[in-house]
Amino acid sequence: MKSPKVGFVSLGCPKALVDSERILTQLKVEGYEVAADYAGADLVVVNTCGFIESAVQESLDAIGEAISENGKVIVTGCLGKNEAQIRAMHPSVLKVTGPHAYDDVMIAVHEYVPPPPAHNPYIDLVPPQGVRLTPKHYAYLKISEGCNHRCTFCIIPSLRGDLVSRPIGSVMDEAQALVNAGVKEILVISQDTSAYGVDLKYKLDFWQGQPLKSKFYDLCVALGQLGVWVRLHYVYPYPHVDAAIDLMAEGKILPYLDIPFQHASPRVLALMKRPAHSENTLERIKAWRSKCPELSIRSTFVVGFPGETEEDFQYLLDWLQEAQLDRVGCFTYSAIDGAVANDLPDPVPEEIKQQRYERFMQVQQEISTARLQRKIGQVMTVLVDELDEEHPVAVARSYADAPEIDGNVFVEDIDRSQIKAGQRLTVEITDADEYDLFARLISIDA
Ligand code: SF4
Repeated sequence: MKSPKVGFVSLGCPKALVDSERILTQLKVEGYEVAADYAGADLVVVNTCGFIESAVQESLDAIGEAISENGKVIVTGCLGKNEAQIRAMHPSVLKVTGPHAYDDVMIAVHEYVPPPPAHNPYIDLVPPQGVRLTPKHYAYLKISEGCNHRCTFCIIPSLRGDLVSRPIGSVMDEAQALVNAGVKEILVISQDTSAYGVDLKYKLDFWQGQPLKSKFYDLCVALGQLGVWVRLHYVYPYPHVDAAIDLMAEGKILPYLDIPFQHASPRVLALMKRPAHSENTLERIKAWRSKCPELSIRSTFVVGFPGETEEDFQYLLDWLQEAQLDRVGCFTYSAIDGAVANDLPDPVPEEIKQQRYERFMQVQQEISTARLQRKIGQVMTVLVDELDEEHPVAVARSYADAPEIDGNVFVEDIDRSQIKAGQRLTVEITDADEYDLFARLISIDA
C-alpha cells in the first residue's frame, strides 16, 4: 500500500521552524511521506506566522495558494489564533489550530488522511534527531515556549502564552541526538532564553547521570560539554547573564550574544515595557567585553515607537556609539493588531520614522564596518555553509555570524573538490566590507 503524502509549507521565525520540524517528525513516525509539491499531496499543512502585518499577508497568501493548488488544507502556527480572519478569506480550510499545537495538527491530519495501517514506527526508520529543515551541520534548539513579559508592541504572549520551559534533561537529550547526527552548531532559541527555567522553579533534573538545574547557566555549562558551537539567541542583559560570559571567555560556548535591545532611551524602554529596561546596559556591555574581548553582540531596534521624541532618538544614537555593537537590525515601528502600543499617544509620523531609520542605519553601518575592519589579519575558525556555485569560494561563518541574520566569511581560491558544507576551516581574514569578511584558507580542520 502506498503511504499517504502530506505537503508542508513552513513560514515564520526559527521558533516556528522548530514547530514544523516536530510535526514533520511525527508525520514520519506515523508512516506519512512528505510530498515535494502540491499536486502529489493528499493534504497540505501550512504553518503560519502572525507577528507583523506583512507576515500575516504572506501567511494568508500561502493558504490561498495551497487551497487553489491542492484544495485540502490544514492551518497551524501563530496566525491560527485568528481563526476568524483566516476563515473570512479562506472558508474552505479544513481545520485551524494555534501555535505549537502538534497534537491538534496530527488529530486533524488523521481525520482527513488516515495513517497507513501497516506502519510500524519501531521498524520503519525515523532518525533519532527527528526531521530537520536546516542544513545537516546546524540546528535550532528550542528550550521553551511562550513568554512572561508583556512588551507593549508584542502579541506573542497572547499567541503563545506564558513561559513554559522544557526540563533540562529533555533539552540535553535533544542536543546530544543532534550532535550524534553530525550537527556542528546548536542555536539556542526561545522568546527569552535568559528566563529559562523560571516557571519550573529551576527544577533539578538528570541528564546522563548528572544532576542539573533547569536554569540558564546550567544549560550553558551542559551544552558547552558537547564539543560543538553553541550560540545563544534572545538573551536579555540581566545580571545572571554575566556568568555565561565566563563560559564564553573559557571557550566553552561561542562568544556571541543576540540581545534584542529594541531601544536605549529609558523613557521609550519603559513605554515598551521591555525586560531588563532598568539595567545599566552600557556598563554591563563594558564589563562583558573586559572579561571576553572577542564577544560579538547582535541586536535589533525599533525606531519611531509612539511617543519617541527627537531627544529619545538622539539618546539612542549616542548609546549606539558607546555600545559599539557588532551586528544590528533596525525596523520602523508598525502597529500590530491587538498590541497595547497601538493605543499609546503621540504616534510618530511615517516620514520621521523613515528619516530616523536612515540616520540610525548610517551610524550603525559605520560602527559595523569599523568593527569588521579590525578583523583583517586575524586567524579564525569558520564553518562552511555552502560552496559558491560558480566561483572557487566557500561561503562560511565565524563565531560572530549566526546563519540567515548576520554576515558571511567568503573563503576565496579554494579547491572545490576538497571542501564541503559542514566542514570547519582555519582561515586568515584578508578583507572586509560593511557586512562580510573575505579570507584565505590556511587549513581544513574537520
Ligand atoms: S520579551 Fe517582549 S517582545 Fe519578546 S516575546 Fe516576550 S513580550 Fe514579546
